[in-house]
Amino acid sequence: MSEHVHVRVNHGLAVTEDGDLVEEYRCRCGATWTRVHPVHEGRPEH
Ligand SMILES: [Zn+2]
Repeated sequence: MSEHVHVRVNHGLAVTEDGDLVEEYRCRCGATWTRVHPVHEGRPEH
């Protein structure tokens, strides 16, 4: 079998209960990735 190079296609955005932003990526082979962007970082605590 030849190597398969994953192609990450942005599949949408989601927001967790904590308010963090989650990006979803999908390859046509079915593999998925998620990237979390914590929005709490840098936010001053009160
Ligand atoms: Zn793939």
